[in-house]
Amino acid sequence: MTLSFNSEMVFIGGKWRLGETGQLIDLINPSTGKVLKKIARGTPKDIDEAVKAAQSALDSEWGSMSALERGRVLMEMSRITLNHVDELADLETNDVGKPFSQARADAVAMARYFEFYAGACDKVHGETIPFQNGFTVFTMREPHGVTGHIVPWNYPMQIIGRSVGGALAMGNAAVLKPAEEACLTALAIGEIAQKAGLPDGALNIVPGIGNEAGAALSAHTGVHHVSFTGSTAVGKLIQKSAGDHVVPVTLELGGKSPQIIFDDADLEDALPFLVNAGIQNAGQTCSASSRILVQRGVYQDVLDGMAERYRALKVGQAKDDFNLGPLISMRQKQIVDDYLEVAKSDGLEMIAQGFFADNLPQGGAYVLPTLFGNVPADHRLAQEEIFGPVQVVIPFEDEQEALQIANGTNFGLVAGVWTKDGSRQMRMAKNLDVGQVFINNYGAGGGVELPFGGVKGSGHGREKGFEALYSFSTTKTVAIKHG
Ligand code: NAP
Ligand code: MG
Repeated sequence: MTLSFNSEMVFIGGKWRLGETGQLIDLINPSTGKVLKKIARGTPKDIDEAVKAAQSALDSEWGSMSALERGRVLMEMSRITLNHVDELADLETNDVGKPFSQARADAVAMARYFEFYAGACDKVHGETIPFQNGFTVFTMREPHGVTGHIVPWNYPMQIIGRSVGGALAMGNAAVLKPAEEACLTALAIGEIAQKAGLPDGALNIVPGIGNEAGAALSAHTGVHHVSFTGSTAVGKLIQKSAGDHVVPVTLELGGKSPQIIFDDADLEDALPFLVNAGIQNAGQTCSASSRILVQRGVYQDVLDGMAERYRALKVGQAKDDFNLGPLISMRQKQIVDDYLEVAKSDGLEMIAQGFFADNLPQGGAYVLPTLFGNVPADHRLAQEEIFGPVQVVIPFEDEQEALQIANGTNFGLVAGVWTKDGSRQMRMAKNLDVGQVFINNYGAGGGVELPFGGVKGSGHGREKGFEALYSFSTTKTVAIKHG
């Protein structure tokens, strides 16, 4: 059976209805620039109703379900997701401009998140603590209550899977504000949750604009935890707003993540990762590897190998499933074009570009993947998150310089290190200022089990893995004096 949700509705308390004002926003297919669907422009009042619906779910059926029962619902969400993988991928391909096979991988990953968190529900428990004689002390892990989830457009399914999945596993009730540029799969998840038997109000979805619906959600006093994935600039606003009513936030923000290639690296292994981590989802990935740091001895070999791969990269309509689709919007294309202009006027060495498929639609947000060499580590293109398919290659002399360059940005999300020297692997893992280090790989295939998040401007708190369950719950200590 196909999914049948109406994209113009909000999903509150288990009911699909128009938003407060009935006002709609156009969703654009970035491969063509044409209007794909319309979505609701949720208001602060819609958000308020969603928060109240979440609270009443906590006060009724959802709040009294056992961990085992919650796990079974999440497992059912995983199963239903897997039954709709191609349909979900189709929605994402048209909405986000993501090549079909990449969108399909996101749908499979979302099912895996629900599966992982389904299995984890009844495995998070408190402890007994040795204390003074005459006392028994133990801890309980409790949900925060209502959790707010504000997500970006680049990986809606994966981010909702890890964020909402973790929150539901711990028994929170969620209010989700998807990105206004990518809402379809978010709404599909509402239908999937309903089909899986998730009680009304445990998940509420209100599409809308960031500084309207998003701001209302992060500022709502009935929200007890905010999980935000997006830009550093908006992350700072969210933290301030949640701080006003003293609730915790998880901030998954941007990055400028390096891969560091030492002279002894296995280049055949490394090369596909070096390029793919820069151009996957057209570079619109928080953990994109936008900086490639190469030791002098293999510098030319790496540059040549990457250039050869760049020249084979084909950009086309997302449905045609080439290496790259369009960017999310003409606005994002303009941002990337501006960086390419800066590179040109500063005389950066352009090494290679990909190529366009024939007959691209006029209104599509297409850019060519572009590789720059010999880029100074303090240049804007080596410091700022571009969020497009642009990589800079930076040479270095030794381990110390590599670390200095790698740690020398405002971000600290992930890093990759390519070397066969075991001692150096350990030193680098210890000294890199990031949330995840990958040695002789990059990304570990997405690894649902692996805690993920950043330091510095890349945010704080962790999602994914078991650790997310601690973020989505709080410890209560009980001390009983019994003599
Ligand atoms: P964004 O502009 O920060 O938007 C993210 C979400 O926040 C969207 O739903 C947006 O709403 C909403 N928003 C905007 N202004 C808001 C406000 N004042 N109050 C509350 N919510 C508000 O980011 P983006 O351009 O969509 O995504 C790109 C950024 O996300 C990049 O920096 C990327 O690195 C980061 N990212 C990080 C991770 C990670 O896990 N670390 C993963 C993916 C992306 P609307 O857009 O709907 O208006
Ligand atoms: Mg769109």
